[in-house]
Amino acid sequence: MEKQKLLEGLASQIDQCTRCELYKSSTHAVPGVGLSEAKIVFVGEAPGFHEDQQGKPFVGNAGKFLDYLFGKIGLERKNVFITNVIKHRPPDNRDPFPQEIAACTHWLDKQLAILSPKIIITLGKWSLNYFLSNKKISEVHGQTVKIKEKVILPMYHPAAALRNGAIARVLEEDFLNNRQLLLDPDKASEIKSLDAGGQQSLF
Ligand code: URA
Repeated sequence: MEKQKLLEGLASQIDQCTRCELYKSSTHAVPGVGLSEAKIVFVGEAPGFHEDQQGKPFVGNAGKFLDYLFGKIGLERKNVFITNVIKHRPPDNRDPFPQEIAACTHWLDKQLAILSPKIIITLGKWSLNYFLSNKKISEVHGQTVKIKEKVILPMYHPAAALRNGAIARVLEEDFLNNRQLLLDPDKASEIKSLDAGGQQSLF
């Protein structure tokens, strides 16, 4: 079956998900949106207020900043796929619990298996931690890390950038420094990347 149909089927299952308690306090699930043939997938943390209201990822202020960063390097939202580690909003935007992450990444793994992107951009520490729990965001942001055939590119979270001007500048620099790669993701396998350090969990 084509990727688009498979992703839609998964999104319907995510809409009905009761694998943890978060569905009880949220308005909509936020499975993710974007191009089914995308070579780049952005993985954030969890839906916030606006995402919960609309059922779409990164539509609030953090999303506006993400759009600003896309504009800086000429990347278009319609050409990437955007999702989160957690698909239902945690109450008051609290950090996700380990058991919620364990339950919900079932969906993220399935999405990534269908999408099979060249590059996974992690936004923030929760997302980085899921793929590379042995790396610190302050040490690896903006640098590619290879796990099997996939390239992970850790970035700070746009919401952190909105709270802290220094992080905003670093995040913008990380986008600019990776501009060529992000506009030509087929090059991902050829570039020099950091070693995942023995961590081989992707699929
Ligand atoms: N922050 C996230 O991590 N994801 C969203 O979708 C919105 C804000």
